[in-house]
Amino acid sequence: GNILKFDNVGLRYGLGPEVLRDVSFRVATGSFHFLTGPSGAGKSTLLRLMYLGLKPTRGRVMVFDRDVATTARYELPALRRRIGVVFQDFRLLDHLTALDNVALPLRVRGLREAEIRRHVPELLSWVGLADQLDARPSTLSGGQKQRVAIARAVIGRPDLLLADEPTGNVDDQIAMRLMRLFEELNKLGTTILVATHNEGLVSRFPHNPRLHVERGQVVRVT
Ligand code: ADP
Ligand code: ADP
Repeated sequence: GNILKFDNVGLRYGLGPEVLRDVSFRVATGSFHFLTGPSGAGKSTLLRLMYLGLKPTRGRVMVFDRDVATTARYELPALRRRIGVVFQDFRLLDHLTALDNVALPLRVRGLREAEIRRHVPELLSWVGLADQLDARPSTLSGGQKQRVAIARAVIGRPDLLLADEPTGNVDDQIAMRLMRLFEELNKLGTTILVATHNEGLVSRFPHNPRLHVERGQVVRVT
């Protein structure tokens, strides 16, 4: 099946121009897609539609076979819990440590504290932050914050992972490590979309399908 379906989607912010125009595509459940395109093309807007942060002004967006336009507000939190999001600006909670930021999705689900103490440090070690478990986000570099944000997005093994430029602040070696983390998650069943304008990164994964956004239009490249 398809975890995402866009049919003739248009989107405008307020009274502005349409920033997405007649966008139609499918994302197969279990796939690992790249979302590419220049800055301002509409990638973040597409991701907002996918995580139910916006409703289309035209056309239809289906997420998990649910029509976003007719989904009641009270149903959104349960659907959003199935989606991991890596925001471009990280959105970490500054009063919590790195460990507690990453633990958040597990606590929301009521996982036992002993489990949390086992899983979260393991994942943070994997992304190279073993010595930053108790650090507050404000003391971390951009690349470190990005890795905390990624750990928080993947810790709960979401059905869908949406990552906006997740390797934008790290060097090549860490970028590849993060991509391997995404591949592991993908093997466990998570559908993944990575938005990036890093062509170098994309070219290292030639077998991943790719949606390209250009001036509000989406074309499937592979
Ligand atoms: P990308 O992520 O590819 O850089 P965006 O989706 O952020 O592109 O932006 C697409 C277009 O929509 C841009 O012209 C941008 O200025 C505009 N835009 C994005 N968010 C808003 C908003 N909240 N209000 C008005 N315009 C917006
Ligand atoms: P989100 O992904 O939750 O919508 P973002 O971090 O992408 O939030 O953007 C932060 C806020 O700034 C959002 O409300 C977004 O709509 C707005 N925004 C982003 N780009 C523009 C723009 N070009 N013009 C006006 N508002 C914008």
